[in-house]
Amino acid sequence: MHVRRKLVAGNWKMNGSLAALGELATIAAAARSAGGVDVAICPPFTLIAPAVARSGGLAIGGQDCHSQESGPHTGNVSAGMLVEVGARLVIVGHSERRADQGETDEAVRAKAETALGHRLQTIVCVGESESEREAGRALERVSAQLAGSLPDLRQEAELVVAYEPIWAIGTGRTATPADVAGMHAHIRAALEQRFGEAGGRIRILYGGSVNAANAAGLFAVDNVDGALVGGASLTAAQFVPIVEAAARS
Ligand code: PEP
Repeated sequence: MHVRRKLVAGNWKMNGSLAALGELATIAAAARSAGGVDVAICPPFTLIAPAVARSGGLAIGGQDCHSQESGPHTGNVSAGMLVEVGARLVIVGHSERRADQGETDEAVRAKAETALGHRLQTIVCVGESESEREAGRALERVSAQLAGSLPDLRQEAELVVAYEPIWAIGTGRTATPADVAGMHAHIRAALEQRFGEAGGRIRILYGGSVNAANAAGLFAVDNVDGALVGGASLTAAQFVPIVEAAARS
């Protein structure tokens, strides 16, 4: 039985400003006093360096990176560039990027390989659409994404999986604890099958309209090792109660 410390990561998406970085000090202070939980914020690329300077010890990360080290890829940012400005983690394969940028499982896996090689903690996102869930294909879809998107484990950095049902992201609808339990157990089994004992150490986050009211219930579910939080990570007032719920769980 592995004891996995909870991780609560905020994904600011294309939101935030220099002024919004004022939230970090409050979040960092709350994380320190709650104790026992890892807390991270992933702002837009332009805010990473100033966020690191004002992080108060929070881990700051990127929302994507390219799989190549450098080259003719206009508008992209490499894993090495994230590391250079102080990022400690990166999200890859978010469903919004899979949809907006047409990222395939293969592309996500290549990004994750590169990110881990740069010692970034790497959060790989998976999750089914509403129509896939309604068709009873959620487990099958997530299995295929795991098989295609997860890189082989490397010693130098930590892999994290985020289960984010697409229909629950930014909608205010959350998967039920029973659905989350079933999917996280399914993901755990896939991780153990592929990585053996090491698969039991990989943290599995839930994401999709997590907020102060539902966080404790989600953190009580087996194999929920934290949360990836979008909208409710934008202000300390909304994010800190989620961090505190993780610390209490
Ligand atoms: C996300 O974008 O990863 C997310 C879970 O968003 P929200 O919390 O707003 O649903």
